[in-house]
Amino acid sequence: MESLTDSFGRTINYLRISLTDKCNLRCRYCMPPQGINHIPHQEILTFEEITELVRVLAGLGVKKIRLTGGEPLVRRDIVSLVKLLKDIPGIEEICLTTNGILFSELATDLKAAGLSRVNISLDTLNDDTFFAITGSRGVEKVLQSLKTALDLGFPVKINCVPSQYNASELAEITLLAKSNPIDLRFIELMPIGCANGMKGLKSDFILSELEEKFGKAAPLKRQNHSPETLYHFDGFDGNIGFISPLSHAFCSDCNRIRLTASGLLKFCLCYDDALDVKKLLRSGESGIKLYDILSKEIQKAIKEKPEAHTFNQQGLKSHMMTEIGG
Ligand code: SAM
Ligand code: SF4
Repeated sequence: MESLTDSFGRTINYLRISLTDKCNLRCRYCMPPQGINHIPHQEILTFEEITELVRVLAGLGVKKIRLTGGEPLVRRDIVSLVKLLKDIPGIEEICLTTNGILFSELATDLKAAGLSRVNISLDTLNDDTFFAITGSRGVEKVLQSLKTALDLGFPVKINCVPSQYNASELAEITLLAKSNPIDLRFIELMPIGCANGMKGLKSDFILSELEEKFGKAAPLKRQNHSPETLYHFDGFDGNIGFISPLSHAFCSDCNRIRLTASGLLKFCLCYDDALDVKKLLRSGESGIKLYDILSKEIQKAIKEKPEAHTFNQQGLKSHMMTEIGG
């Protein structure tokens, strides 16, 4: 089988797909309160186009897909997309990153369609703080989604972005990993889109605060290609982790590429460069000819994947997190 290897010898086997730029929340670090100018409906890749592209990427060695957004669960009929993707030979895992507002009502159908894993974003356990961060009330729904996901046997991770809004609550949030078999990951705020100018908390600072409360944290062996550093506290069912793109870059073994909802294949979160796969998908070609064109163009473009991000030198204003899905 052909593989997708960049000019730094990194093999790409993981695709993150942003299904929509729409969202039912307005997290301060991600979307402006008034929302954004949405991509017109006809410019969003259809399920058929996404499936066609994933078939090509699976032929090039992509094994894992993550559905993200915007909020992926606001995309109509996502359950049928999960099934279409799961049926593609070579695709081993379909994962989801969600804000948890709609997950519990769709969870059983998503599981039956073949969803493998779920990451749920949760920055606070307090509904007033949730409102201050997201502009909506919904903590109970997110906690229900966590419970439903665990009850259905999904492997679950929680994503929490520490900021001035939840700084005093991080120990309490950490307790979720004491009573549940989850990885609770603190994500360093990235200076991207409307988070430019916001201040996050550094991972090393959070870890030392948590160690004061819960004792020494034992570092766990880092999984290949994983952006997180995991730790275990004595007596916890789960683990805590840190995703620290700024203070601990993990570019050297990056195995991922990203597809935007509007059909751009991006090779690094930090840069605007992308391959316009929608143009190719809508070129009028079909069948094996289209497959070959996509395959060749992607193999050519992957050689331009940058060696590393440069968030420390510059924020990124032109792309919003909702376009590229984190
Ligand atoms: N709506 C879904 C959700 O919130 O989980 C999926 C999309 S969201 C863009 C994916 C992840 O990116 C979330 O965990 C969110 O907290 C994180 N995120 C968004 N903006 C961020 C930023 N500026 N810095 C760090 N993480 C960010
Ligand atoms: Fe929506 Fe997720 Fe962005 Fe929050 S982080 S506004 S839930 S896309």
